[in-house]
Amino acid sequence: MKGETMSGGTTVGRPERLRDRPTPIPRPESLRPRIAVSSCLLGEPVRYNGGHSRNRFLTESLSAYVDWVPVCPEMEIGLGAPRPTLRLTTDDGPVRITTKDRSADHTDAMVALAERRAAELPELEGWILKSRSPSCGPRGVSRYRKDMPVDRRGVGVFAAELAERRPLLAIEEDGRLNDPVLRRHFVERIFAHARLRALFEGGWTPGELVAFHSAHKLQMLAHDPARYRIAGRVVAQAGARPPAELEREYAEVFSRAFAVRPRRGRHVNALLHVYSPMARHLDEIRRLDITGVIDAYGRGEVDLDVPMTLLRHHARGEEIAYLDAQTYFEPFPAELAPLLR
Ligand code: SF4
Repeated sequence: MKGETMSGGTTVGRPERLRDRPTPIPRPESLRPRIAVSSCLLGEPVRYNGGHSRNRFLTESLSAYVDWVPVCPEMEIGLGAPRPTLRLTTDDGPVRITTKDRSADHTDAMVALAERRAAELPELEGWILKSRSPSCGPRGVSRYRKDMPVDRRGVGVFAAELAERRPLLAIEEDGRLNDPVLRRHFVERIFAHARLRALFEGGWTPGELVAFHSAHKLQMLAHDPARYRIAGRVVAQAGARPPAELEREYAEVFSRAFAVRPRRGRHVNALLHVYSPMARHLDEIRRLDITGVIDAYGRGEVDLDVPMTLLRHHARGEEIAYLDAQTYFEPFPAELAPLLR
């Protein structure tokens, strides 16, 4: 990343790697988020026709940073490969997953599997599901009804059960991960969750929870300022409430905050939180430089990296320590950043 050319034509020497964050915030490269994935996306020959749907971003880029938990629901309920194609049907009431000729109905087996897998699988950071599959597709799956046009608003039976049983989990489909904005958001979520899991798995003190929450301030402001404040009120009760109850409550607010995709305006707000306290020691030229770059980011003319790098460049003393402690400036391993554009 050093000396990288930023979009907008500005070349900015990225500052040295952020220094060690204070415990209990692990550095992103020390984390391995656990991601369950439709196994055909990893290249396993489990599709109905004996083929696969290997996804290059997953197998060639993300693989180096996460631990996969491959799942093929149709294989797990005992259907081999190759096998007859399945589809969603909605003739009488609830959606079913059946063979094309409707001679076999696998709904009950699929629901039971989703229930078991949701409870059994190790603690996960997220799921990546195969789009348009009547089992795995999380949205836009074709639903068939006799003598009616195909309706493409269905959800795969396994995916629907999973979303209901694990509502806080980051769930994404392969096709949407081609969009850089959605891809970055998913990766941010899984690393945020991995940090949270590391905190709670290791046991924690109220002071550590306060430090954890403070370190996520800018990142949470960019996602969901209202939930950042709600989470702060939960943290303020640490030590006064049963830890398990507090953990549950904090994890829920934290996960819901990160589920909100950060908008440009909220990033501007987070950047101004960094800029405001440092403005007093900057001369006018530098102040105009920084606010100009933040404005340019707000107008979509430069990448987020540009104002972030400039702010770090002008930080000094305690400000540097504060920024180093903020997950906002390195939400996932720095080496992963170019792969998300
Ligand atoms: S989409 Fe799901 S059920 Fe179909 S082959 Fe892939 S993993 Fe198996």
